[in-house]
Amino acid sequence: MAARTARKGLIPGDGIGKEVIPAGRRILEALPASLGLKFEFVNLKAGFETFEQTGAALPDETVQILKSECDGALFGAVSSPSTAVKGYSSPIVALRKKLDLYANVRPVKTVMTAPKPIDMVIVRENTEDLYVKEEKTYDTENGKVAEAIKRISQRASSRIATMAGEIALRRQKIREAGGQSIHKGPLVTITHKSNVLSQTDGLFRSTAREALADPKFQSVAVEEQIVDSMVYKLFRQPEAYDVIVAPNLYGDILSDGAAALVGSLGLVPSANVGEGFAIGEPCHGSAPDIMGQGIANPIATLRSAALMLEFLNEEQAAAKIYAAVDANLEEGKLLSPDLGGKAKTDEVVEDILRRL
Ligand code: ATP
Ligand code: MG
Repeated sequence: MAARTARKGLIPGDGIGKEVIPAGRRILEALPASLGLKFEFVNLKAGFETFEQTGAALPDETVQILKSECDGALFGAVSSPSTAVKGYSSPIVALRKKLDLYANVRPVKTVMTAPKPIDMVIVRENTEDLYVKEEKTYDTENGKVAEAIKRISQRASSRIATMAGEIALRRQKIREAGGQSIHKGPLVTITHKSNVLSQTDGLFRSTAREALADPKFQSVAVEEQIVDSMVYKLFRQPEAYDVIVAPNLYGDILSDGAAALVGSLGLVPSANVGEGFAIGEPCHGSAPDIMGQGIANPIATLRSAALMLEFLNEEQAAAKIYAAVDANLEEGKLLSPDLGGKAKTDEVVEDILRRL
């Protein structure tokens, strides 16, 4: 079989992004030849440093190359200035828009040997809800009033719910192929607040229900939960969740909250996903407090590389990376300082590469 060659963009960005993205590249290059995968890489600019050098946080060239040459990318982190800087806005937010990456996917998982193992993924709608940023402020007799539009569409709700169903099926396939899990069957939990927001969240809920009623999701159990009660249960009983699908704002909050369940930001990956394109992105930021010391935990990035591959239908390659990372964590000998160890970024990467 001829090797499948695919070009990936590498966008380190700022701070520890520059230290962890090379680790992501190394693990992709180290995948066994028997998988028949070959990667080409193209280094691309974005971020605050790029903004200072060129006046653009996301140069047109970066977007053009991603669109015309790549099917995926790894994005490190960008530092956000503490006070607003004129002309600067987040390049990852812009990239999501320009490439129509409509889903943000965040798996939150411990190793199976943890005292209380968890294994969930939060699938967040990424284009609408309160994030349409249509706000206004006006004066009244009683002072200022500010309003924001919360927009929910059938199209966006349907495609995000469909993606959640597909993810649930894929996770089940990986389990049946021998992947370890605490779950017995695929489950999607729809979250909303339609008891209060009967129109907007009501539409999200009914559309998601409808999408998940498709015969192809026959084997997927579907539940729903009001978002506040979900937060409570997420912290009391996180093992109850497999796939959570949420509108933009609830998804944003739930995914940061869930990340807190696993001990370090340095472990949590994410992917920004659209049609045929996925960007892997560690959940952490540029971590200026530890940059330049070579001690950043690379695992969030390695898992993000695997997640990107999952969405490009390279599940076998993804499974190998997950297993190698889990083996490193389970043994617990070469851990970075955020996990209580003494290992440098490179030492963690080398340990994981040995296990591939
Ligand atoms: P930014 O504005 O870029 O988000 P931040 O100051 O909020 O930067 P984060 O990157 O969000 O920093 O990190 C929050 C905390 O978690 C910091 O103390 C950081 O050192 C730690 N942290 C984040 N990522 C990692 C990692 N990969 N390895 C080790 N520690 C990390
Ligand atoms: Mg931060």
